[in-house]
Order: sequence, then C-alpha cells, then structure tokens
Amino acid sequence: MPYLVRENLFIGDIASAADVLQNGSNEITRILSVVSSASISFFSDWRSNISINAKEICKVSVRDFESDDSYGGESDDRRTSLSPDKLLYAMEYAGKDLKCLRMAVPLRDTENQNLLDYLNVCLDFIEKSRNEGSVLIHCFAGVSRSAAIMTAYLMRTEQLSQEDALESLRESCEFVCPNDGFLDQLKMFEVMGFKVDHSSIIYKRFRLKVLGDSYNRGEVIDSSKFAADPGILLPKANVSAPSEIESSSLSLVDRKFYRCKKCHRLVALQENALDHVPGEGENSFGWRRRRHACHLSKPEEFECSSIFVEPLRWMKLVEEGALEGKLFCNNCEGRLGCFNWSGIQCSCGSWIKPAFQLHKSKLDISRV
Ligand SMILES: [Zn+2]
Ligand SMILES: [Zn+2]
Repeated sequence: MPYLVRENLFIGDIASAADVLQNGSNEITRILSVVSSASISFFSDWRSNISINAKEICKVSVRDFESDDSYGGESDDRRTSLSPDKLLYAMEYAGKDLKCLRMAVPLRDTENQNLLDYLNVCLDFIEKSRNEGSVLIHCFAGVSRSAAIMTAYLMRTEQLSQEDALESLRESCEFVCPNDGFLDQLKMFEVMGFKVDHSSIIYKRFRLKVLGDSYNRGEVIDSSKFAADPGILLPKANVSAPSEIESSSLSLVDRKFYRCKKCHRLVALQENALDHVPGEGENSFGWRRRRHACHLSKPEEFECSSIFVEPLRWMKLVEEGALEGKLFCNNCEGRLGCFNWSGIQCSCGSWIKPAFQLHKSKLDISRV
C-alpha cells in the first residue's frame, strides 16, 4: 500500500505502483518510477502475470537536457556529471485506459549512484503533479531511492535540513532508509541551497569525483564533462586591455584570472579553481570544507605553491586518457603544472585527488 506523506503525495514500493497501473486509482493520477530500468516492461519482468499498457510521450537524454537553452544561461552551466548518451527520464501515459502519467527515471540503489543529477527533473515533476492531481513516488522496496527523492522534495519545499526532512518522512513511513551515498548527496543538496547548482564548488567537486571514479573503472575519459577553455570562451580577455574586457557580457567583478606567465594566454578562471583546506592531509579535498583554527598558528607551513582546478578542455594529455602527465600551455607550450588522477600532494601537505595542478610560479594572477 502506498503511504500518504503530504496532501497529494504518496510513497510506495513496486507492488503499490503495479496496483495503481493495473487497476487504476481514484486517488493517484501520476507516478514517478525510480527503478533500475525506465521501461514499462520492468513490471512484467518483476511478475510475469503483469502486463501494463503504455504510450510514450518523450524520452530525454542527458545531451538533450544539457543543450536545452530554454533555461537561459550558458550551456556550460547545465553540464552534469552524467554521460551524454544516458537516458535522463522517459515520460508516458500508462496503465488502465492510459490514464496515468508516468515519469520513469533509471536509478540503481547503490552508494555510488549519481542521485544529484536526477533531482531537478524529479522534483519538478512531483511539484507539477501535485498541483494537477496526486503523485506516487516508488522504487522497488520503497525504502532507499524513492525515500531519497521524497526527502529532497521535502527539503526543497519546506526548507528542511536533510536530517529534519528524513525524520518528517519517517512519521509517515517509518522504515524508509536512503543509502549512505544518497544521504551524502542530499547533504550537498542542502548546502547548495536546496538546488543542484552546477556552478557551485560543491557540485564541481562532485562532478570531478564522479569523473575520477569512472576513470578508475577504466572507462574512456568523457571530455565533454571538462570545463570550457577560458582562452576560447573569453578570447578578448586573452591579451586585451581591461576596457575591452569590461565590454564582455560576463560579470567580471572580483573575478580572478589565471594566465600563462610566458605568453599571457588565459588558462583558468576563478570559478575553475577548486580550493582545498591547506595542511589537512588526506581529508583536504572532501566536499565538507572545514577550517580548523589550530592551523592558523603556523600559516607559513601550509603555504600552497599551486592552485588546483577542474579539468579544462585545453588539457590535451588529460583528454587523451593518460593517468598522469604534465600540463602545457596551449599557446606557447610552456609548462604550467601537472595532473594525476590518483592524486598529488600540495606543498601545504594536503592530498588532492584527482589533481589538476597549476604552479603559481608559472602563472600571472590578476583581477582583470
Ligand atoms: Zn595546498
Ligand atoms: Zn603560454
């Protein structure tokens, strides 16, 4: 049986969804399925005596989503951590008389499953569905995946912390228990202000971690996930005078520019830099950034002689899939730093993993 969480909002397992689809429901008119396959045949694979009609409305891939400019902003702002060919969601009419609107999102219940990149589309669907009817969110057992999405929804609509939202959900359905990887991502969602902000440093670190995991699994490096080359993105800012830069449409207030010292080509922008806490050893690059006052007593010991950035599209050797190597300026071929997917230790003692390191001594750092 589905559990009522809020008005027009239910959570359940696959059996409760199958019941609604097979027999129809006076109450539930929409379904959000989060099981490992988006296909309606998942139900008949689960129980052979079940066959559910469906009529496809659309299938949206990650590529479609990332290139959809109706949301405004640069397309780079919509760069997810998911590979472009992946299905983001499918939408269809399903069930008895094809009366139920079903959105299906393929998700596995594992700790390294990327949940964040599916949240926006799921939460928007739930919001819209509740305004127009009643919605059931279900996964297989109704314990982890559906609960994680429901928790995110309560967080966003009621501005609750991850802990408070989950506790509130447990009042309706006491056995829900999102896996630890989901809980971690929900915490990021909270810190990002109840949204998935692709431009935030928390998200950028998450994306780099996902890239690093896929590299470690031996997958081909997906350079479409790299940040745009600022030397191409802002060609005018490359060597020009400040007055010309100001005419650019981008907001440049207080923005740091990192240029090759030798030839002055722009190689990174402030937003490409992923800060770490100096002198924190192994833990320095966790997304939960902490500052410990005890380090402030001897700041000179923790001086960082380089900056670490997200992978950028001018990094040829990285695109070619090398585990480690040097980073050369695309223009003058001068050496700027190095990279290593397994990590590099900063001069401050912190380990950064994966690491894309630019030496400050090879850079000109300016505000214009
Ligand atoms: Zn450092
Ligand atoms: Zn150069």
